[in-house]
Amino acid sequence: MKTWNDVANLIFPNINETIEDLNKRFPKRNLKEGALVTRFAPSPTGFLHTGSLFTTLLCYRFAKQSNGIFYIRLEDTDQKREISGSGDLLIKELERFNIIPDEGYLGDKEVGNYGPYKQSERGHIYDICIKELIAKGRAYPCFCTQEELDALREEQERNKIRTGYYGFFAKYKQTSSDDAYKLVSEGKPYIIRFRSNGSFLNKIKVHDEIRGDLELSENDLDIVIRKNDNLPTYHFAHLVDDHFMGTSLVMRGEEWLPSLPIHIELFEAMGWEAPKYAHIPAIMKMDNGNRRKISKRKDPEAAVSYFIENGYPKEGLIEYLFTIANSNFEEWRNENKDKNLEDFTITFDKISKDGALFDMEKIKFLSKEYLARLDASTLENQILDWANVFNKELEERILSDKEYFKNILNIERNIEKPRKDYEKYSDVKEATRYFYKDIYDGIDINSYQFDHERFDNNLIRDVLSTYLTKFSDVNSEEEWFNTVKEVTNMVGFCDNVKEYKKNKEAYKGHVGDIASMIRISITSKSQTPNLFAIIKVIGFDEAKRRINHVIEALK
Ligand code: GLU
Repeated sequence: MKTWNDVANLIFPNINETIEDLNKRFPKRNLKEGALVTRFAPSPTGFLHTGSLFTTLLCYRFAKQSNGIFYIRLEDTDQKREISGSGDLLIKELERFNIIPDEGYLGDKEVGNYGPYKQSERGHIYDICIKELIAKGRAYPCFCTQEELDALREEQERNKIRTGYYGFFAKYKQTSSDDAYKLVSEGKPYIIRFRSNGSFLNKIKVHDEIRGDLELSENDLDIVIRKNDNLPTYHFAHLVDDHFMGTSLVMRGEEWLPSLPIHIELFEAMGWEAPKYAHIPAIMKMDNGNRRKISKRKDPEAAVSYFIENGYPKEGLIEYLFTIANSNFEEWRNENKDKNLEDFTITFDKISKDGALFDMEKIKFLSKEYLARLDASTLENQILDWANVFNKELEERILSDKEYFKNILNIERNIEKPRKDYEKYSDVKEATRYFYKDIYDGIDINSYQFDHERFDNNLIRDVLSTYLTKFSDVNSEEEWFNTVKEVTNMVGFCDNVKEYKKNKEAYKGHVGDIASMIRISITSKSQTPNLFAIIKVIGFDEAKRRINHVIEALK
């Protein structure tokens, strides 16, 4: 007569360690009361999702604001779905957002005393736990073939009953330890399943830090805990890891909430205290009037790389993620404009339960605000970092004269209401083109934004020629504008816009029209930052040369 202990020894003849040994190897962390241990546990299956960045940011902040620990664990037990190198990439992406783990899997190395932090290297640890579960009758080998499992599912679907391997349908649940021993000895292929004692009709009370107290059906599934590649499933692996790594708060996507009863029962079976759980709502999007989750397949902004490649400042995105994390964040920000994000305390009760609507316009707005308030040197460095990877031409242009570029960036900066020209680094190239002589000279005269409906070429040339007789290198904007007014009067335009509006017939136009002709001549554009500031950056001689060039070109 063979016992479950015999079955356990038969399956794991070389495992001599016990859970007790593991408890000694990974002692309880010595942290202050209230310090949270959180983790980001990505599967290396692709790019960093915007939703994952959001969840990770929350994990990170909850750990940091409680003087706890934030670590990274690589959940690479699904080797079929693994994309090689994506684990390292995820770590680099997080680093970019200043999310620096205290310990864990860090790509090229591991830091910390609770490793290995890569699940594929923890097989031995899982096996110790599974061996004990089998020995105490809470796990068993299941010999079902894939065909049998498919047939079970089909039958359940046909009869409209809940699908899964449970209760009456769990073919090997009732198999005696004696028979199980025999089948394993004969070499019949198997996987290991958990033996649930639950009943689906029972309700259990669970607590979610965001959703509060919930009532869910008790688990009755005999889930697979060890697959035929000898690796555990997520359900079991995360449990073992979170226990031995001392996680006190598991924050993860809400798609895991339905599995919570499985995890609760597994923790009970192991005799371990479950951590706190918080299931983060997915970020939503409006699509033809319907709310749906942002999707990797349909929405480019679902990948963090979208923001990076397009040159959105990471600070704008993070600021945005704070606004959707806590409903009181914006109010706090309005009252604390100069404070760091770290000074804001994130709380569970202010996290939306329904999932925030993704708002690209808001990200753009916040990015503009952020970029407008940077000093020119910092902004220049950030643009260079971006251009170095994504726009070599822009990089070269900036490096050809860094001081000059900084002068451009300094236009209408460092003032109470700075100019908000750039939403992202990639806007800079287009917005600053005309500052560069060679680019300016290549602009087709027909694309200059003159108001040809109101003013013909002869008139424009006349205005510009008159202006050149008065234009000089002055130092104050007031002085410069007085000259513009003087010229306005000389060419039969009105130097007062209100006056002009009352008596349009008496004039050819007003002072704004004259300034506009000068602006367009110098930049080719009708909308630009402060024109006097532009002239100061490109220089008086260059401005004069450009006006002359336009007079010639309009002939
Ligand atoms: N590897 C799981 C995932 O990527 C982690 C879930 C968790 O944080 O527990 O969804």
